[in-house]
Amino acid sequence: MGRGIRIARVFGIDISIHPSWFIILLLIVWSLGTGTFPAIYDDWSTVQYWLVAVISALLLFASVLVHELAHSLVALRQGTPVKGITLFFLGGVASIEREATSPGREALMAGAGPLMSIVLGGSFLGLGWAITSPEVLQAIFLYLGLINLVVAAFNLLPGFPLDGGRLLRAAIWAIRGDFVTATRDATRVAAVIAVGLMVYGGYMALTGNLIGGLWLVFIGWIVIQSSQASYAQTLTQERLKQVPIRRVMARLRGWVAPAAGLDETEVELAELRARCLPVGSDPEHYDGLICRSDISGLDDGRSSGPSHTSLTAADVMVDREHMPTIAASDPASEAWQAMTDQKIDRLAVLDDGKLVGFIDRRRLSRYLELHPGGQRPAA
Ligand SMILES: [Zn+2]
Repeated sequence: MGRGIRIARVFGIDISIHPSWFIILLLIVWSLGTGTFPAIYDDWSTVQYWLVAVISALLLFASVLVHELAHSLVALRQGTPVKGITLFFLGGVASIEREATSPGREALMAGAGPLMSIVLGGSFLGLGWAITSPEVLQAIFLYLGLINLVVAAFNLLPGFPLDGGRLLRAAIWAIRGDFVTATRDATRVAAVIAVGLMVYGGYMALTGNLIGGLWLVFIGWIVIQSSQASYAQTLTQERLKQVPIRRVMARLRGWVAPAAGLDETEVELAELRARCLPVGSDPEHYDGLICRSDISGLDDGRSSGPSHTSLTAADVMVDREHMPTIAASDPASEAWQAMTDQKIDRLAVLDDGKLVGFIDRRRLSRYLELHPGGQRPAA
């Protein structure tokens, strides 16, 4: 999913809205304003139907946001960085990049969202029961009470990576003691759940509820896709844990002088068939790293400024101070994680304080392609 429009920052977490969200918001407002509320309350004015529909839909998404915040706050408490929360057409998603480190932590993080939805649902139902007039206010409370319980129930389906599936994985992980096995089994259960949703959705579509049925088929398809992708990601992480960075990194093939012109640098990169070269002259006192993409990126985005020919390698390189580093003996999974956490593409690899190579995402992907190891999830 692409990035959305940032609307707020809560507890240091960026809240964004994906463009697809506006479409679903309009659909929900329309269906509440022309279907749900008129069917239950027959003596409101048109303005009242629409007003209540808009408020209810916005509060529904506020509730979804609170659900995601619950996941995120538990993650932050556990020391796991949260990149942000995005609202999109299926609801909300919190970008929690790191997997939990124990079944108990995973269960807490996964359970927090549905628990919050149940608390919200119960509270709104209580308000709707206690406050009976004005009727429009009660209608909003009752709707939010029920819809939050629906959100909780849906997320508790054991279709990994839905919250219920994560709880299931945590349980299997606790019993079997192995994260990869637990992920594999949770992925298999998710496939069963997803097929169930799709079959039921197909039945609904054929027996009169076309939109609702197709929606369920679509959700089932999303569950299958995302559970398989999560499993593949888990296998990747596990495989990279077994490999030291030294085995995956690109070794230094030569050096570029700081004063070298860009054309000269490009020739050097091509001749040495290197994607990146260190700038300087020795591994202990290197100045920085320059890559083909640094030079080609320059041509794309530049409209003014010094011409290509007057720039030197030292002007364009990522200098030593700004170059994140990692130890050659660390597992390759650490490199992947560091690049994801810091939103960077490249790390300098050091051995005993000396520059010995560099590693980037392409290098890691390529290693995985050349050394296929994990079995694919059985659906
Ligand atoms: Zn959730």
